[in-house]
Amino acid sequence: MVNVAANVWSHAEADPDRVALRSPRGDLSYGRLRELSARAGGAVVAAGLQPLDRVVFIAPSVIEFPVVYFGLHAAGVSVITMNTMATAPEIGYVLDDSQASLVLVWHENADAARTAAADRGLDLWIIGEGADLDAEPLASAHDHAPDDTAIILYTSGTTGRPKGVELTAANLLDTTSSFLPVLALTEDDRFGTALPLFHVYGQAVVMNTVLVTGASLSVLSPFEPAAMLEMLRRDRLTAMAGVPTMWNAMLHAAADYGPSDFEHLRLATSGGASLPVEVMRAFNERFDCAILEGYGLTESTGAATFNDINREQKAGTVGPALPGSLIEVRDTMGDPVEAGVVGEVFIKGPTIMKGYRNRPEATAEDLRDGWLKTGDLGMLDEDGYLSIVDRAKDLIIRGGYNVYPREVEEVLYEHPDIVEVAVVGVPDDHFGEEVAAVVALRPDAELTGEQLRTWAKVQLSAYKVPRLYQFVEALPKGATGKILKREIDRDAIRHASIG
Ligand code: AMP
Repeated sequence: MVNVAANVWSHAEADPDRVALRSPRGDLSYGRLRELSARAGGAVVAAGLQPLDRVVFIAPSVIEFPVVYFGLHAAGVSVITMNTMATAPEIGYVLDDSQASLVLVWHENADAARTAAADRGLDLWIIGEGADLDAEPLASAHDHAPDDTAIILYTSGTTGRPKGVELTAANLLDTTSSFLPVLALTEDDRFGTALPLFHVYGQAVVMNTVLVTGASLSVLSPFEPAAMLEMLRRDRLTAMAGVPTMWNAMLHAAADYGPSDFEHLRLATSGGASLPVEVMRAFNERFDCAILEGYGLTESTGAATFNDINREQKAGTVGPALPGSLIEVRDTMGDPVEAGVVGEVFIKGPTIMKGYRNRPEATAEDLRDGWLKTGDLGMLDEDGYLSIVDRAKDLIIRGGYNVYPREVEEVLYEHPDIVEVAVVGVPDDHFGEEVAAVVALRPDAELTGEQLRTWAKVQLSAYKVPRLYQFVEALPKGATGKILKREIDRDAIRHASIG
């Protein structure tokens, strides 16, 4: 039987009272999770949906998310999860592109979905607290063929309109079986996250792996550093998953917490964006807990590499390939390069997507002979550990020299007054592009661009040192907490900067 819901449900048979989910509103046992999700699946089947019909599901990270999600899997439909902030036109685009036949939405996020569904004459179900749907429960989960599309996640990739990444029933189970051993996760773990469950990282990597293992998952929405720390203390978490901006925010909010609050914590996983070494070091010192960094994309079901807890962990790298996956770094001609040389990262393995839905050309472009082209620049070391140098499209070319923003950001993060920073290229008549830093300082800090420039010069070659500085309260971030460089207004920096 290939169906992630069946694996999660198996714990209900073995131990129905075991806690599956915790949240500020209460807990849910594996027995109750199975009962409620079997009813949600039953409601979908009773409404006439067939296996592989598309259903859009929009909800934040609440305990009702897995109830509905595993119910949909059990019914055999292809699940499309979307950001709770999606607008009616964005939802409409996905409904049309996927030819979805039903929309399920969390009651607090219903407005946009209601408009999009009504415009198309589609049914909309509003999910309330408890997600207790009145229907005959399914007796068992649908038996998927391994290649059946289990989920479709829309992502923009580098350019163009969002494309639907089709991930199979087997992809989902392969991701969980790659992560389980490298985290040394057991059913006694108490995992916690504020990641959005509609994104591949929170969903396929964290939620599915934790619940397939039989461990408990504490969820929080939205992320707020004090609330995350409180969850850590309340649920005596042994593991946490997040993105770099979350660790950074927690570090700056942890004043009231002492070592006894962190004594159970054994690991934190970081992904989605590069983790500044300085943030990792400070977190390690403050929480006495390692952050294990990994790397993946929606197109690889969130999996590719990870700093395995059982092996040497190398700070600044995203670790070696996960079990079953292969990583290659290639030059612009498509030939593999040697260790220590920067090129584009390619991934092959059981977690790679089936393709972009209804887009054979885009699929052929990014997927050749099973190798996924990532658009990320990276470098392997002699031991096969990967470092992500940058997104290919974020590379700044200043006067003919390559400047990797991440390298500059790492240096600026070492400054004690800097909370967040993004380094971007802005158009420049003379150099083509000029290096600019957008900086959020500690509330009481006073710092000029000139001072930062002097600081950066000690460690960086002159052409890499940002000439332009913009000070902001916070950087624009996406749903997962990733800093969104594309939302930084480069023209505004060019005209308003000091430095
Ligand atoms: P998404 O499809 O939203 O999960 O985004 C995938 C992209 O996130 C990758 O192509 C990388 O550019 C970036 N990414 C993920 N993990 C890391 C990491 N550990 N370090 C640097 N970039 C990362």
